[in-house]
Amino acid sequence: MNVFSHHEFDNHEHLSFIRDPETGLKAIVAIHNTSRGPALGGCRMFPYATDEEALRDVLRLSRGMTYKSALANLDLGGGKSVIIGDPRHHKTEALMQAMGRGLERLGGHYIAAEDSGTSVADLKVMGRCTQHVAGIAARTGFDGKPSNGDPSPATAYGTFIGLQAAVKHKLGRNDLTGLKVAIQGIGNVGFRLAQHLKEAGAELWVYDIHQDNMQRAVEQLGAKPATADDILFLPVDVVAPCAMGAVLNDDSIPQINASIIAGAANNLLARPEHDAMLQGRGILYAPDFAINAGGIIDVFYERTRATPATVRAHVDAIGDTLTEIFNRSARSGHPTGAIANELAEERFQKHTAGAGLAPERLACTG
Ligand code: NAD
Repeated sequence: MNVFSHHEFDNHEHLSFIRDPETGLKAIVAIHNTSRGPALGGCRMFPYATDEEALRDVLRLSRGMTYKSALANLDLGGGKSVIIGDPRHHKTEALMQAMGRGLERLGGHYIAAEDSGTSVADLKVMGRCTQHVAGIAARTGFDGKPSNGDPSPATAYGTFIGLQAAVKHKLGRNDLTGLKVAIQGIGNVGFRLAQHLKEAGAELWVYDIHQDNMQRAVEQLGAKPATADDILFLPVDVVAPCAMGAVLNDDSIPQINASIIAGAANNLLARPEHDAMLQGRGILYAPDFAINAGGIIDVFYERTRATPATVRAHVDAIGDTLTEIFNRSARSGHPTGAIANELAEERFQKHTAGAGLAPERLACTG
């Protein structure tokens, strides 16, 4: 397995391989870039078939966090961790504590939050052995409602704000009454996005592999059920993928009938060139790491104990960031994903260390 010459390595600052034979823990922590502050990103637990698969995933995800936080103007760097194992069978308190001890040894250069396969409860267990975990503090959320630290409500609200910005840019509409939206994946984020859209008067179509999730949206929100085969291709205004990545690909893009893609799932483009393919079809793509930044914004402010109004204002700014991306794209002719990358790179390459959250950098002398 190559590391420095790995095609996803992209100048990562730091990689740690954590092993604890007693609990069976095998984990990788990747820190991509800390020029804006400590690397904050989720800790994913997944039954990777090989170490190579786990390494590839953590490198891609960690780089993505650098771009997401920089684009959201947060004083955070990008990092991610993966635990190799099936969360349904291999997760124990001892294993989570061993992960906590491993993170503690990194001295705060990486801070872990929830991701797929880990929950607020798991992060709290890790937190017995390290202070470098986030997304766990019970407080009043950005929306004035009680929060247990789960970032999903902020992600869903930010996605709603970003979707509004996309509709304004593409369709010249401020109001969403009668807007037709198809949502793939009605989980933590997708269901809440559907609630915001319903309140705004949109007409909804939904599909989820879990029948009960779909049924809830049908019964509670009056959404229309769709199928696995047609959810991305319905004759609607907006498609919002909120389940998994790589759904925008060679097969799907030619069949899309919507004029806007605005959803929360990470890594939506199967390959970078699908950005231009969407543009070529006249489809406005709201880059995933721009529109789904509400969660990282929320977790950032947990650490600074900001007021709910401050958090909400920052999540609202996702709309301005997307409008800037859409306008730059229209002016330059370059696709929106490329513009979002460019804007993020401007923000993390030029930045000097952030607002006092980064572990102190020691000057090397002699
Ligand atoms: P979740 O697991 O709660 O919801 C995902 C939903 O998608 C589930 O209901 C699942 O049954 C469904 N699903 C899985 N495969 C599907 C398929 N093939 N077709 C249709 N539905 C399918 O996860 P979530 O927290 O809602 O996150 C959704 C997406 O947004 C993920 O890609 C996640 O990485 C991304 N995201 C989440 C957050 C957050 O704060 N939760 C932040 C940024 C990005």
